[in-house]
Amino acid sequence: MPRLLLSFLLGMLGLAPPAWAQQQARILLKVAPDSQHFWCRYTVWLPAGSARSPRFLNLDRRFTVIRVRSPRLSGLSIQPYLYAPFQDTVQRIALAHPGLKQRRKRVTITYEGTLSDRYATDQVMEFSRSTLWLPFVPYQEDAPLAYSLDVQVPASYTVVSTRPSRKARAGHFRFRGRTSAIEPTALVGRNFHQLTAAPPKPAVTVIKANPLLRADTLLLAEATRICSYYNQTIGRRDSIARFTVLLPGTNRNAFALLDNAVDITYSDFDVRKREDRLILAHEISHKWWAYGSISTYEEWLNEGFATYSGLLYLRAAGDTAGFRTELDKRLASAAGAPPILGFDRSKYDYPTIRRVVYAKGTAVLHALHTRVGDDVFLRLLAATAARKTATTEGFLTLVGQEAGPDTQRWLREQLAR
Ligand SMILES: [Zn+2]
Repeated sequence: MPRLLLSFLLGMLGLAPPAWAQQQARILLKVAPDSQHFWCRYTVWLPAGSARSPRFLNLDRRFTVIRVRSPRLSGLSIQPYLYAPFQDTVQRIALAHPGLKQRRKRVTITYEGTLSDRYATDQVMEFSRSTLWLPFVPYQEDAPLAYSLDVQVPASYTVVSTRPSRKARAGHFRFRGRTSAIEPTALVGRNFHQLTAAPPKPAVTVIKANPLLRADTLLLAEATRICSYYNQTIGRRDSIARFTVLLPGTNRNAFALLDNAVDITYSDFDVRKREDRLILAHEISHKWWAYGSISTYEEWLNEGFATYSGLLYLRAAGDTAGFRTELDKRLASAAGAPPILGFDRSKYDYPTIRRVVYAKGTAVLHALHTRVGDDVFLRLLAATAARKTATTEGFLTLVGQEAGPDTQRWLREQLAR
């Protein structure tokens, strides 16, 4: 039975809807661009059995919580605390409910804040993964979330996201989608400039806060070639029909969003430079490489794979010299780094974490590629992507299936040394 229909019938009978494994959220965001201020009402349905009471949500500590509501809420505390992945930047909202631990819980948090200049310019206010503007369950920032996002802005402003709005009228924009918990995205500005690739698919769209330049036309063409290449290789069992490149011009970083999108904030981004081309290919490949935990060594399944995918694109696009140069840099960085398997990132500094997760991950994949050849390697990557593989053990199982037990044993040794 379709979930919505079942939910509706249970609602008619006055029963609570069943516990869906996935979190759902309804978000209302009101933005005042003149003052960089925002107000947000975030309602989440936490799955049943997801945690014992008290349950916790994290929120950026610079934001002010106005109100927390939840049926049968019996206790509430809000305290800044040290949360390892984001250090001392969050506050913890602890919610106690009596009994009924098996029922899913609706929680509504109303809060407000002002975006710093890192996320706001004269042209745009950026509410993205990087802004960390939404509450999230600790260690579940990348759990799947089905969301609706309503954004209200002054009538002379407009709002764009990783996908087109479902409804838009003066000052009101609605988006719906499914992404990771901290990734619902809204860019607010007076005017956005847009470029879309002509068919054949994939339909890539570039959305920019500042006026378009020739570099953006080249970016659109390059992103389209990259999506096509991945659709035929790593993504051939899970191909994409649309992709969005957001260019807010906030000049900070570049990162992938699970909802077939990247957010590239550099205003001088130019794919004629090899480094930028590689960043674009790396970030687009995260569409397929995003399921390893970012707080353990399993992150090599994201970053090692994305780095090597970017290099493969460079080679496929004809830049074999670039492929070799960039690969050699990673191999040199990987030499002497601690083993990937069991790597305890809490004991090392960030440069060492990067050497293991990015460079050594790339080196191991290159060694595997060299051992099994193009056909088996790409079949293996396509299977790994299609399964949304989240653990090294899961990857080793696929290696055993696609390349045989000897290679599986060999790879385990590579990962352990
Ligand atoms: Zn990456």
